[in-house]
Amino acid sequence: MSLSQLARSICESPTLKLNEIAALLRDKGEPVIHLGGGEPKSKTPIDAIMSCSSMLQTGDVKYAPPDGIPALKKAIIRYTEEHYGRIVSPENVIASNGAKQAIMVALHAILDPKEEVIFPVPYWVSYPEMVKLAGGVPVPVAARDGSFEPTVEEIAEAIGSYTKAVIINSPNNPSGVVYSEEFVAGVVELCEKRSLYLIMDDTYNRLLFDGRTPTNCYRYASEGNLDSSKLLLINCVSKMYAMTGFRIGWAIGNKALIRAMANIQSQETSGPATPSQWAAVGALNGIQSSIESLRLTLENNRNVMMARLGAFPGVKVVKPGGTFYCFPDFSAYEKDSGKLARLLLEKVRVVTVPGREFGLEGHLRLSYCGAIKDVTEGINRIKWALDPDAPNELFLGDRKIVRDWR
Ligand code: PMP
Repeated sequence: MSLSQLARSICESPTLKLNEIAALLRDKGEPVIHLGGGEPKSKTPIDAIMSCSSMLQTGDVKYAPPDGIPALKKAIIRYTEEHYGRIVSPENVIASNGAKQAIMVALHAILDPKEEVIFPVPYWVSYPEMVKLAGGVPVPVAARDGSFEPTVEEIAEAIGSYTKAVIINSPNNPSGVVYSEEFVAGVVELCEKRSLYLIMDDTYNRLLFDGRTPTNCYRYASEGNLDSSKLLLINCVSKMYAMTGFRIGWAIGNKALIRAMANIQSQETSGPATPSQWAAVGALNGIQSSIESLRLTLENNRNVMMARLGAFPGVKVVKPGGTFYCFPDFSAYEKDSGKLARLLLEKVRVVTVPGREFGLEGHLRLSYCGAIKDVTEGINRIKWALDPDAPNELFLGDRKIVRDWR
């Protein structure tokens, strides 16, 4: 079979693959603990369901504008004014199939072959593959001090004649780290000065802990017309409203870029499914209490996860300031994160995501978006699997596991 060079260069999304593996094992009755997940377990807000179902009841589900229905654009404009203090017009907004498609069409709209896109390490797994899909070259930048936040100077050093854009995601998937205001301010200024696009991926922007408030990138952008700005703001209902399956995300940017993105989207997929768009209208305009209750649950889960990991000798972890992930360093036990994740899945049925997928070996991404008992049971099993001094046997339900490794 002959596949394109592009197809051969792109890897499957490792996180979606892990969801599949976990579901298959569960179907077989295996006692799987999924610490690899990327979605809150809470239900869709009722206002989203009502809005979607009343649209469905009309029986009138037809093609809609490729950049989003007017009602969703209006809700996004209101949301942007409330949370970012920016008044934008409908031509500055595009709704897409999740934040993923919004980023993808943006990259298609700005990249010429071989142009480079910079992003900090660790990074969301999809950035390198998306950049490659758009014909570009991913340029990950790791902090020299080993932290999860490079300096603005380190980002600046990676800029070359082919650099077209920078992507920043804070709070960050996979580390949960919230970049400092100074860093975000510095990158906004740097991109303006060097005339680079800046894609601000605010997917987790409101899932923050310890009293933090969301960073507003516009605060650091020069005043004036959005239409002369290369700042592109990405958001979605996926995480904060626990609506991953609806596939609604959006971008706010200059009119010319948004028009180009809409043209590309119109040829690739058309706009997102209209029932989903109405669900997002309901979520954005409805009662907002579900976000705070999700945030509180996640903060509590984070605390439990930190307490458990803190009692794990040799494991180093940076306390997440947001999201539902953490990114502990397990290299004292095993430097090859793929090997470690495989061992944990095969031996104790715990799903984790290898750090190498996010650009850092020796780490695992652990999610705490599931039930609290999964967090505690999952870490107990990992500890048992890695601790050579642990008893030789462990019970998973009524199944006895005997250590046959190390
Ligand atoms: N950006 C980041 C950093 C993410 O973690 C994700 C989802 N895992 C997305 C974008 C994509 O979100 P969506 O599901 O809305 O496409």
